[in-house]
Amino acid sequence: MSKQLLKGKVALITGGSRGIGAAIVKAYVAHGAKVAFTYRSSAEKANAMATELGDGVKAYASDAASFSAAEALVNEVVKDFGSIDILINNAGITKDTLMLRMSEQQWDEVIETNLKSVFNMTKQILRPMLKARSGSIINMSSVVGVFGNAGQANYAASKAGIIGFSKSIAKEVGSRGIRCNAVAPGFIETDMTDELDEKTREAFLSGIPMKRLGKAEEVADLCVFLGSDMSKYITGQVLSICGGLNT
Ligand code: NAP
Repeated sequence: MSKQLLKGKVALITGGSRGIGAAIVKAYVAHGAKVAFTYRSSAEKANAMATELGDGVKAYASDAASFSAAEALVNEVVKDFGSIDILINNAGITKDTLMLRMSEQQWDEVIETNLKSVFNMTKQILRPMLKARSGSIINMSSVVGVFGNAGQANYAASKAGIIGFSKSIAKEVGSRGIRCNAVAPGFIETDMTDELDEKTREAFLSGIPMKRLGKAEEVADLCVFLGSDMSKYITGQVLSICGGLNT
């Protein structure tokens, strides 16, 4: 590692136990950050990861969809780490099905986990960030939130909502030194995309100019940049990381 871009910073990352979130946790640690990360049910995996990464990394069981859990979490992390410089709202789920078959529960679960969670966490984090007059908030959207996808109306709505939310927060708190950006990954190799059927996978691949899926580590690199001072004049943006899919 030539330069530690996040030395001295504290990051709170939701959904850090697997996939993209786990890659972000590791990249942040490699770049010198102290990291608090959450999970919903993968306790064993999350705790093993925190132990392996050593001092300055702690896992918390916390449901991102719950407003009261977010409040308790932020208080606990501030108590444990002293401050929070970077918030990454990464936790997300899919409940894919065509609109005619989509239940109210499938709609509500996806909106609450993917979109309400971003409100829950941002609401709690803003006070300490406003006090510090600095901070970087990174919200995990998706290219699907930009151009939609059949069978993912709930997921696409949650990810499009994140984009409007991120731009609004950027406008509200930019003058106080707080940045807020959305990251829109394309098709990244994780448990989430393992669930996709062969036909959907092929269709995605044919539309990707780089003709391959992305890696969680590649999304993590973008999050390192957005959390670091290298991006200090970037706010209110949606950064696609999709091998050219969104072109
Ligand atoms: P993943 O492998 O399924 O991992 C999801 C992570 O979120 C896990 O750590 C999971 O915790 C956590 N999580 C789920 N619900 C939660 C809740 N209610 N509270 C707290 N944590 C919760 O997913 P991924 O592919 O890494 O995706 C990460 C983010 O990137 C998501 O927001 C997703 O929508 C977005 N994204 C992914 C892709 C892709 O191609 N993979 C593309 C675009 C956007 P447990 O381990 O405890 O379940």
